[in-house]
Amino acid sequence: MLFKTSITYRKKTLLKLLIAIEKHEEEINQALYNDFKKPEFESYLTETYFVLSELKLTIKNINKWAKPKMVFPNLVNFPSTDFVYSEPYGKVLIIAPWNYPFHLALLPLVSAVAAGNQVVLKPSELTPATSKLISKIVGEVFEKNHVEVIEGGIEVSQDLLAQRWDYIFFTGSVTVGKIVAKAAAEHVTPITLELGGKNPCIIDEKANLRLAAKRIVWGKFINAGQTCIAPDYLIVHKKVKIEFIKNLKEEITLAYGENPEISSDYCSIINEKNWLRITKMMEGQKVIFGGKSNKKGFFISPTIIDEPSLESLVMREEIFGPILPIIGYETENDLEQLIQNYEKPLALYVFSTNTCFNKKIIQKFSFGGGCINDTLIHFSNHRLPFGGVGHSGIGAYHGKKSFDVFSHKKAVVKKANWLDNQIRYAPYKNKIKWLKKILNWF
Ligand code: NAD
Repeated sequence: MLFKTSITYRKKTLLKLLIAIEKHEEEINQALYNDFKKPEFESYLTETYFVLSELKLTIKNINKWAKPKMVFPNLVNFPSTDFVYSEPYGKVLIIAPWNYPFHLALLPLVSAVAAGNQVVLKPSELTPATSKLISKIVGEVFEKNHVEVIEGGIEVSQDLLAQRWDYIFFTGSVTVGKIVAKAAAEHVTPITLELGGKNPCIIDEKANLRLAAKRIVWGKFINAGQTCIAPDYLIVHKKVKIEFIKNLKEEITLAYGENPEISSDYCSIINEKNWLRITKMMEGQKVIFGGKSNKKGFFISPTIIDEPSLESLVMREEIFGPILPIIGYETENDLEQLIQNYEKPLALYVFSTNTCFNKKIIQKFSFGGGCINDTLIHFSNHRLPFGGVGHSGIGAYHGKKSFDVFSHKKAVVKKANWLDNQIRYAPYKNKIKWLKKILNWF
């Protein structure tokens, strides 16, 4: 049986969730620290704050968003009043990744509940402390047949995907995204896929180099580079490359000190598998900064690699770690050739004070979203859609768009009875001339 909810009930439970998250804030920080040594500052900024702000926005606007919207009627149907109803899909499955384990599990959950759905959430098995806490918080707030957290790994995920759902919202890798899409196709289930890719970051000769370096270091090494929209590789104009690298090195040292391994502001890599995967990417490369790693504590220092070959591992795969490869370019044609080697990225960044150049780059390449003269921050504006294109994903969410993602938009025309234009009814004899006149008149 579907668990049906009134707007009042949804609002009440979302408010309860908000209070519970505020109450458990310390525990959330601790869980994230236990899972991968996440600093408290980053836990608040990139996890708790996002969920709280989405909750506040949703609670404030849910009545307005859920209300049937009257749209301008089509004059051909005169007289009528036309509406769009937001209807819950029904049973929603949310599968979340580990890299922002609290935020990426709860953000879609908030909107799925707001839109009136029944939800099953599967958080990542790679962040057990956070997943356990999510399960506890959700258990405190929701009825089990309304929202349920099912913890577990790949097998649990596969079992869930084998069931029939009315909507699936998946965040994770492209490889698993394809598995999700196949499973969804079995029941023609609509999906959102929030995936990854290789995000280019262009530094033009006219960039403010110091500021660009500061903002790139922040966007790349926050969460130790384990961010789906982190700049994956830099493409720097050859005229400014040496100076830019000097700025990058200085900014990394300013942020994390001479020994990032003892910095309390720097995360660890999530597990041994990923630590091995990332350290392998440094092998045989021209490491010009960092390059230190320690299996104990799964540490990898912020690392810069100069001019890796396009065939190397670091340039073939999504890095998803604290390694920053730099490639020099001279012409816009060089840029195009490099970027078009890859599938459409989730994010693209361009740094320049040349407005025409920025505009050209934004228009030339297809990507999920991005910034001019900054990194990551497009994510934070709930008025901007967040999602990928091509291999980086299907669909977008955040703010009102998230509510819409989890609502079927039902179109209804309410026709009046006081007038009934006869022209559309058979027999059609001698009517086509009038039909054309009427249709083309509007
Ligand atoms: P993942 O695809 O390995 O796992 C994501 C979820 O899918 C987990 O809950 C996991 O248990 C489940 N899963 C894993 N293998 C499965 C399988 N074979 N069948 C069914 N379910 C399976 O991703 P991850 O390692 O947790 O996260 C990293 C990836 O996610 C990166 O590629 C990153 O770019 C992407 N990502 C994207 C976004 C976004 O918003 N677009 C955000 C964060 C991460």
